[in-house]
Amino acid sequence: MAEMRTIAVLGATGSIGASALDVIARHPGRLRASVLAAGSDVPALLALCARHRPEHAVIADQGAFARLRDGLRAAGLSTQAHAGAEALDQLVASDACDTVVAAIVGAAGLPSTLAAARAGKRLLLANKEALVLAGELLTGIAAGANAEIIPIDSEHNAIFQCLRSRQTQGDVRRIVLTASGGPFRGRDRVSLATVTPAQAVAHPKWSMGPKISVDSATLMNKGLELIEAHHLFAIPGGQLSVLVHPQSLVHSLVEFVDGSTLAQLGLPDMRTSLAVGLGWPERIESGVAGLDLLAHGKLEFEAPDTDAFPCLALAWHALEAGGTAPAVLNAANEVAVSAFLQGRIGFLSIPELVEATLSALPAVPASSLEALLAVDAEARRYSSAAVTQHASKGHAIPA
Ligand code: NAD
Ligand code: MG
Repeated sequence: MAEMRTIAVLGATGSIGASALDVIARHPGRLRASVLAAGSDVPALLALCARHRPEHAVIADQGAFARLRDGLRAAGLSTQAHAGAEALDQLVASDACDTVVAAIVGAAGLPSTLAAARAGKRLLLANKEALVLAGELLTGIAAGANAEIIPIDSEHNAIFQCLRSRQTQGDVRRIVLTASGGPFRGRDRVSLATVTPAQAVAHPKWSMGPKISVDSATLMNKGLELIEAHHLFAIPGGQLSVLVHPQSLVHSLVEFVDGSTLAQLGLPDMRTSLAVGLGWPERIESGVAGLDLLAHGKLEFEAPDTDAFPCLALAWHALEAGGTAPAVLNAANEVAVSAFLQGRIGFLSIPELVEATLSALPAVPASSLEALLAVDAEARRYSSAAVTQHASKGHAIPA
């Protein structure tokens, strides 16, 4: 029997966190959630602790420490309470876990993801923003410490599986990322001016957190995924492409030099990717049913529309420009998406703000983590100021 895997779930109260804990709970003899970490929602974290009984619980918000500690005690749990990013990084690197599910949203997940890589953990990487911001550093540190990265993003998890059938890097001709097209597929740019946050987060195929749902609606998500694929699979941008596939059943494809194309298919449910990461190289039960192609009938494919969805083209350019460009793209996008979700700017302002920030802060080589974090901060300052301007010009949509 496989050895017991002890798992830190970072972003435990989120959508990926819930899927990871669902798979873990199906395998009490081989998987155990030993560390649960969340941003600020103490009641949700307490409920997860009561259910999964981890040794450690971490809340990012320092001010919430006492509530977490007292809540654990009141519930009669022996789980130790911790608060703050440094406490999280230490736990992730300690013997409290051998596996880390990195599912914090945004660049906020970078430090803990790096800590897991540095400590040589098995890293189930959902936090794509960490790779976009510091892809070379992260993959370099992971390789140096023998940390095994298993991508959790469904497309990259599909590619990871398909690539197991080749011998060398040169065998791959092309990698095709599939995209659902999001809730606004088929619409033109003008008609997108008035869409609301509620419409943008109502994804037709996947149930996800608000930030990635908006990214799927702008197609920035697919852009971030191109950069993610470039780093994870050491493949140049020229060998990557995007194909819209509204049914979201084919999760990506790898074409080899001999003309073979391998794809991974399955229902759109992140528990499959998580089960691959938690069980690998074995296959374990995930709770996801098999695929009945007869019932689904049709698989359709179309080209992405970069006129209606310029974020995809902006990400391509950032990937080609390299250096600090992806970090700037990511930071400006996080600021713009957050402003859109708060109703401060309209949907079309998202690509406008990202483009303006990329032009204001041209790419330079990304030499160190400090340099990347400085650029991230600068891009956030620039785009936050631009948000204020957009909002005052009346670009915001009525709530
Ligand atoms: P979510 O919003 O549902 O959850 C985010 C989690 O991060 C929450 O637990 C929150 O408490 C935590 N968090 C936020 N800020 C934090 C901070 N500063 N410190 C510690 N914890 C913090 O998001 P999600 O949909 O689960 O996505 C998580 C990550 O996985 C994102 O990077 C996303 O792009 C990626 N991803 C998600 C899906 C999906 O299906 N949901 C698919 C592919 C990739
Ligand atoms: Mg994805």
